[in-house]
Amino acid sequence: MINAPAVPWSGCGSRYTDDEIAFIVEAMRTADPMTQGRYQDRFEAEFRALTGARHAFAVSSCTAALELAAIVSRIGPGDEVILPAHTFAATAIPFGRTGARLVWADIEPDTFVVSARTIEPLITEHTKVIIVVHLYGLMADMDPIMELARERSILVVEDAAQAIGATYKGRQAGSLGDLGCFSFHTHKNLTTLGEGGMLTVADPELAKLVPGLRHNGVRGFEGERAKYWQPAMSNINFDLDGVWPYNFCIGEVQCAAGIVQLARLEAMNGNRAERARRMTAALGGRSDIAFQRIPDECRHVHYCMPARITGGPAARDAFMERMAFHHKVRMVVQYYPLYRYPMFQKAGFGDAQCPETDRFFDSMVSFPFHEWMPEDQFGYMVEATGETLDHIGTRQRTSSP
Ligand SMILES: *Cc1c(COP(=O)(O)O)cnc(C)c1O
Repeated sequence: MINAPAVPWSGCGSRYTDDEIAFIVEAMRTADPMTQGRYQDRFEAEFRALTGARHAFAVSSCTAALELAAIVSRIGPGDEVILPAHTFAATAIPFGRTGARLVWADIEPDTFVVSARTIEPLITEHTKVIIVVHLYGLMADMDPIMELARERSILVVEDAAQAIGATYKGRQAGSLGDLGCFSFHTHKNLTTLGEGGMLTVADPELAKLVPGLRHNGVRGFEGERAKYWQPAMSNINFDLDGVWPYNFCIGEVQCAAGIVQLARLEAMNGNRAERARRMTAALGGRSDIAFQRIPDECRHVHYCMPARITGGPAARDAFMERMAFHHKVRMVVQYYPLYRYPMFQKAGFGDAQCPETDRFFDSMVSFPFHEWMPEDQFGYMVEATGETLDHIGTRQRTSSP
């Protein structure tokens, strides 16, 4: 192949071992039914054990989990939702659908996530929900955010799509807010065959609403039935009057994949953290690149390896160009501030006061960071990064008057 990148941006965050594949194949052979069965029960139970969340519901994606979170938040026109614009669009879309106003919170320049400091000035009497995104695998400083929300009875949703296994003061992502949303999409630290998600719920009353909303309002009939087929196999009803349910179910084989990857999560996240440590040890002393600051109370799970090129947008583009075309390292830039997308602009959410979000996006880079990246590629990428920073530094110096 011509121009094959030496270090690709993989579409798979993790890979399955042969033992894991055998377990998944066993589910293909034996699962009956192929959805809503014992693999799902076990996956949910093990997810509760990992996160410490009281309730966990496996669903077809994190977007589905966010959709359920938006529904049980009972919000609509006239209400406001505070969330970062520096995130993937799926954080915002389910809440935009409700008709509530999306209010963009800025990020902290050193941790790249929202904080009580950036959220508090945006709170009004209309604020009903705060969405905290633990972006790149690093949890936001939750205690002050929870304090703001509790004082005002605001619901807190944790978008933990990128943060499975991450902790804050020893507590797991998805167990601090009212609702937690996880992704098992192919890119993420754990994947259930490409798509999948989990919704964690703290309040038992909210948790009661989820199974029906997840599965077309299906439930049992009340009371004993003399014949199991009368009046019908199952009942259908609203969990929230007037709120039509969905089918957000996930299959048993996917849950089997989730079970085996959950068993290896600690090791996989450990490998990511070890790589991140080596990368920052090699490059973190430089002034021309700045990695995400990890507060002492946080355990980062390094879904991605983002960094700021401190020389600004021109230096960033020079860096991207040399990494991509000279060294063949497939870097990306992410996440385009949501208020710059036509979808959010057309919906009336094109305005924001988020200077750090803009500054960061325009000067950031993100390294390929899949868990299974071969060691020689990783070493090469770190070396190429140092060479590239030296090169653009030299060039900038020699081209200035
Ligand atoms: C991946 C992701 C989602 C969406 O997850 P899906 O499982 O693909 O629906 C939502 N929020 C964030 C921050 C993500 O990274």
